[in-house]
Amino acid sequence: MKYTALANYIQGTYAPVSPRSKDVTSPVNGELLTTVPLADESELQTAVESAKQVFPGWSDLTLRQRCDVFYRYRNLLQDNLEELSRVCHEENGKTIAESEAEVLKAIELTELACSLPNLVAGESLEVSPGFDCSIQQAPLGVVACITPFNFPIMVPHWTIPMALALGNTMVFKPSEQVPISGTRIAELLTEAGLPDGVFNVVHGDKHTVEAICDHPDIEALTFVGSTPVAKSVYARATSTYKRALAMGGAKNHLIVMPDADVEHTAANVAASACGCAGQRCMAAATMVAVGDVNHVVDKVVEQSKALVPGQNLGAVISEEAKTRIEGYITEAVEQGATLLLDGRDTTVEGCENGSYVGPTVLDNVTPDMNIASAEVFGPVLSIIRTDNLNGAVQLENASPYGNAAVVYTQDGQVAREFADRASAGMIGVNVGVPVPREPFGFGGWNESRFGVGDITGRGSIQFWTQSKKITSHWIE
Ligand code: NAD
Repeated sequence: MKYTALANYIQGTYAPVSPRSKDVTSPVNGELLTTVPLADESELQTAVESAKQVFPGWSDLTLRQRCDVFYRYRNLLQDNLEELSRVCHEENGKTIAESEAEVLKAIELTELACSLPNLVAGESLEVSPGFDCSIQQAPLGVVACITPFNFPIMVPHWTIPMALALGNTMVFKPSEQVPISGTRIAELLTEAGLPDGVFNVVHGDKHTVEAICDHPDIEALTFVGSTPVAKSVYARATSTYKRALAMGGAKNHLIVMPDADVEHTAANVAASACGCAGQRCMAAATMVAVGDVNHVVDKVVEQSKALVPGQNLGAVISEEAKTRIEGYITEAVEQGATLLLDGRDTTVEGCENGSYVGPTVLDNVTPDMNIASAEVFGPVLSIIRTDNLNGAVQLENASPYGNAAVVYTQDGQVAREFADRASAGMIGVNVGVPVPREPFGFGGWNESRFGVGDITGRGSIQFWTQSKKITSHWIE
């Protein structure tokens, strides 16, 4: 085993070993990395008590004092960039370059938290002679953060720096498939000076998540994962009156108009579909080819061929995921799709026990095929043909999801019309992965998000606080 067995991280130290645990293997080469505990209710209880106990002291600090921790933490992320990227690569399977990009995004998210004193400076107004009204943002208490496997470092940072800097204390449950990065986050926060108990890691699975949803002392939670789980977590958490925001899956449509710049569009579509082995909620799933864009399709295939598994294309998370993805490809071919590039049965020399799927392009996919609506979550691009922008918009609108929607065109009117009519929270114009940079918030629509608002950016300030309005009158 490459690393020592993981333990829950509670009150600034490692907790005794849990009765249940699970092996963590690397999708890169199948190597056993570590084991992860699967916490039960009593272990969660210890973590919640720890977070509850330190909440008064942490929330009593000024915002500037709390942000001091995150200035130091930001620099620790930078100092440990290489090691964090290696761990992320090993446990998730994405390339080292993609892992580094993830850590850099975590730094950007931490910097937003560092700027909170500028963002939340209060308002005050004399509303009647001698009467002043002012408003303050107060933290909620103990909160929770539950994350998926596909971004072991970035997605936790959508929540952790803002929620903590705003004065909350936290229980964090990383994905049991990628638990090592989450543990390193806790260690670095302690090293940055975060008081013990403010941030606690409880590893686990479905049962741990259900216990978090049910816990009466957890005031709010964010969840990021697949739509079926997001739905059930949102329903369960809000049934115990928690504030909840649950981000779900996606099926993003990239519309290619006949006037699109060929080289840029092809490279961009291929990178969107295959980056992080297609395991991004912002990945291209469907390219909607409008009119005669065969020249772009040919180039997309050419660009996709340049992505080599084990070199500039990482592994998918597990053998189970590989089998699922290959099943979708086979089924689509059986249903009549044209296979322009086949990524099935891929092995990487020297990493024969790794889980790799090569870039795959399927043409002539029709809306009735399963692959047109299912979230494949692998390096697979489906091409659906349509005659005009209206047809493309209808295809995009018909998806139950609503994370990203993209148009490639050189016509401003077309871009504007598409942006207006697409049913998605994040729109790209000639940008294949339109993740908003901070402070613009990240958040989809429809079945890609349950709850109100964005998970990052200014919207997250509202989510992690409650406003207190003070009306004062001093008698002379
Ligand atoms: P997942 O839903 O399987 O797991 C997410 C978390 O939920 C994990 O911590 C896991 O332990 C827990 N979990 C799993 N099954 C559960 C259950 N039945 N009940 C309660 N908790 C459960 O997701 P994943 O496979 O880890 O991640 C990939 C998914 O996440 C994709 O669907 C992707 O689109 C989505 N995602 C969405 C966003 C977004 O912002 N919309 C961002 C990243 C990933």
